Amino acid sequence: PRLLDDEEGGVVFLSSSLSSASSIGYGYASIEKQRQRLPVYKYRTAILYLVETHATTIIVGETGSGKTTQIPQYLKEAGWADGGRVIACTQPRRLAVQAVASRVAEEMGVKVGEEVGYTIRFEDFTNKVRHLSSYLSIFGVIIFVMHAGISSLAVQDLTAIKFLTDGVLLREMMDDPLLTKYSVIMVDEAHERSISTDILLGLLKKIQRCRSDLRLIISSATIEAKSMSAFFHARKGRRGLEGVELVPRLEPAILSVEGRGFNVQIHYVEEPVSDYVQAAVSTVLLIHDKEPPGDILVFLTGQDDIDATIQLLTEEARTSKKNSSGLIILPLYSGLSRAEQEQVFSPTPRGKRKVVISTNIAETSLTLEGIVYVVDSGFSKQRFYNPISDIENLVVAPISKASARQRAGRAGRVRPGKCYRWLYTEEYFVKEIPAEGIPEMQRSNLVSCVIQLKALGIDNILGFDWPASPPPEAMIRALEVLYSLGVLDDDAKLTSPTGFQVAEIPLSIWVSGRGAQKELDEAKLRFAAAEKKVIEIREQLRRIAQRIGIVMKSCESDMQVVRKAVTAGFFANACYSEAYSQSGMYKTVRGSQEVYIHPSSVLFRVNPKWVIYHSLVSTDRQYMRNVISIDPSWLLEVAPHFYQQHRLNPIH
Ligand code: ADP
Ligand code: MG
Repeated sequence: PRLLDDEEGGVVFLSSSLSSASSIGYGYASIEKQRQRLPVYKYRTAILYLVETHATTIIVGETGSGKTTQIPQYLKEAGWADGGRVIACTQPRRLAVQAVASRVAEEMGVKVGEEVGYTIRFEDFTNKVRHLSSYLSIFGVIIFVMHAGISSLAVQDLTAIKFLTDGVLLREMMDDPLLTKYSVIMVDEAHERSISTDILLGLLKKIQRCRSDLRLIISSATIEAKSMSAFFHARKGRRGLEGVELVPRLEPAILSVEGRGFNVQIHYVEEPVSDYVQAAVSTVLLIHDKEPPGDILVFLTGQDDIDATIQLLTEEARTSKKNSSGLIILPLYSGLSRAEQEQVFSPTPRGKRKVVISTNIAETSLTLEGIVYVVDSGFSKQRFYNPISDIENLVVAPISKASARQRAGRAGRVRPGKCYRWLYTEEYFVKEIPAEGIPEMQRSNLVSCVIQLKALGIDNILGFDWPASPPPEAMIRALEVLYSLGVLDDDAKLTSPTGFQVAEIPLSIWVSGRGAQKELDEAKLRFAAAEKKVIEIREQLRRIAQRIGIVMKSCESDMQVVRKAVTAGFFANACYSEAYSQSGMYKTVRGSQEVYIHPSSVLFRVNPKWVIYHSLVSTDRQYMRNVISIDPSWLLEVAPHFYQQHRLNPIH
């Protein structure tokens, strides 16, 4: 491995590239020392004791204190993975799952996919023997024989620690509702309150009633531990047991890991700036020119503005008269290749300064060493859903004060740092920025959430025990759409076979606009950079289709079939352009909202009369992204309920 002395106190830093067998011996001692220096190490015994004695343990600790990488290892060392059991650790983000799994594998001196594995949608790097066993039903006897033959050899390297997205764990519940193979489930980054995390918390609370052997750890950087504890403690029908000693205890334990962050000085702009990208670039160059060594982390909102900033920064750094040669400029967002990820995590060479331009993934999910300066736009892309118009929007909106503090904290990991909030003034921050964010559950379209719960047999969705209740209007909208799609029947149960088939397929094809930016980005990147991946995904979908009895048929070159299929899934997103409208303005059939085709679309100047979009993005206007043209008669054909139900007849 590449070893580099840190200027501060000689901390030895091992590069994050995968260890080869020969490198382990050399790097191991220093990694062990590094592990012991983490704040969470002092709490090792306390954590193990609390997990042993409590059904739920809530752990709060500063980003970088070692929660994600260390706690699963402590649990394994204490025997929680013995007897073929698995320790799970969930993350809201795919990239975090991959990065953390490879870090932990490196610390343990194993390869990813052996004792330490990870699973994200379309990617399963857990032990192959386990993995194959899930295909037993397909390949039948042959694999069974192979399985029996090799399992005796492979016992030692079954996956003991598994990192996965919370969405994937939810999906696993469809096959194994009580998640029986897991001994401990650590729901990490719980403060993010993603939809999947919230559904998961609600379901895990139910599972706990049936499995006294299961332990939960809820961990995050900032969480209102008390309300989370109250959620897990409040149980119907348990009152009579108060005062009785139960093992494990049902009242959650709360542990706060003392951080060791350094002081971070905050700088604001004196006047709001107008050119966002230019301001980010100027701030970075100013730091590089005036400030002592130390890496820079810039928070922007998504791939688009990150790419624009990188382009401008590269140009300006090249043409600038000042000394800008030492800059290493790197992007960080979901969907990066492994090589790109490694660059971000690898140590900065002496005499250079790394500039990482990131989405809010670097806010708490990932720790970057060596950051001394944070340049924070104060914004992120957030989903907002209006159940009245049934429109879900990705909006660039201010982050909460809690998030802004987290971002600033990234600058104080190795020594006192500085944070530049360059898009708003201090007064604006104090007066206008909300203290906490709103859980995603309360600002999203709930279609896929409802399908998932229904598929798990949870019929009383309105009465489900949520950590944060979703708005009833949004629930009703979701039920309505699913009914129109033929996924739910008159009793709001999944229809057979359609409803069950839809629930099995790990895509959001049936969801109106649930395509969050990160998923879109991922999808795009896969097409651009990894055609092989497309083939794999196709293969996986083909297997699922085969298993649930969908016959595969090629459309040959008849694109109309494809467009009709998309219409069948996204009919709720139909728009038409007003006759004689020269402005490119469209109206949504539902809610008559004004929308425009995004300039990046190939249909931008074509302006077909009728279109269907996949998602909306708000900037100066509401833009439709991923648009196809349709024939309006298809709408009545594929979704007669829907269009009758709303007594909408814009189809002239
Ligand atoms: P937490 O979950 O509390 O935010 P982590 O367990 O993710 O903390 O990280 C603990 C420490 O492990 C970090 O401070 C960093 O020193 C180290 N670390 C984590 N991930 C990596 C990585 N990919 N490369 C190098 N070091 C890492
Ligand atoms: Mg973490």
